[in-house]
Amino acid sequence: MDLISQDDFIRHSRLLGPDQLGMLGRTLIVAPHQDDESLGCGGTIYLLTQLKIPIHVVFISDGSMSHPNSKKFPSDMLVALREEEAVKALSILGVEQKDITFLRLKDSLLPCTETPGFDTAVVAFSKVLSDFNTESIICPWQRDPHKDHRATWQIVDEAVKKCTLSIRQFEYFVWLWERASPGDLPAANEGVIWKVNIEMAKDQKKKAVQAHVSQTTLLIDDDPEGFILSAEVLAHFNTDYEILLERK
Ligand SMILES: [Zn+2]
Repeated sequence: MDLISQDDFIRHSRLLGPDQLGMLGRTLIVAPHQDDESLGCGGTIYLLTQLKIPIHVVFISDGSMSHPNSKKFPSDMLVALREEEAVKALSILGVEQKDITFLRLKDSLLPCTETPGFDTAVVAFSKVLSDFNTESIICPWQRDPHKDHRATWQIVDEAVKKCTLSIRQFEYFVWLWERASPGDLPAANEGVIWKVNIEMAKDQKKKAVQAHVSQTTLLIDDDPEGFILSAEVLAHFNTDYEILLERK
């Protein structure tokens, strides 16, 4: 059966209940940008921290390109602001600042397998992966329409292949519901599609998303090309379930 819409995914996925979540073990959350963690799996993060599962969150890009023309928030200020917002969002979800790593690679230019800098990115990510003794990873879907999300997956994939740990890998969806072309969707043999019931975590998730003030409001109002999460996009993340694909 072809799963196309977000509703299809929710309807035809298997429930990953609290007992199974409790078995994920030490879980590394991987986010390309400061907001993907809250949008893609914020409810799951909150449920995991409530279950006392050790969590570490790693941000791959520096977030500096959401408002590239702003004079009020030049690159270094924007990076600092977005990190502050990420720390706040994650504290709402039960993650302490000491459990967050910012790799600070250039936003919009994350290296993929064919571009320079890929090996260096893999080495940096691999260190986080092994230092944390990772047992499960939650990272972006490999064919998410955003190229930084795809590059992030490639960095994760290469590091997991190279490491000696046995790791369960789950992937979350951010831009699939908005912009996917048919080839971006998961095929039936690509993994198990799970849904996590996040009804009891919805308030925290919403607050965490809103903590990314620079991405959800007109705080930075001097860049006409600046990025903002529209109400339509945000509606995709205000659901009772989060979908995670577990790789086979
Ligand atoms: Zn992103």
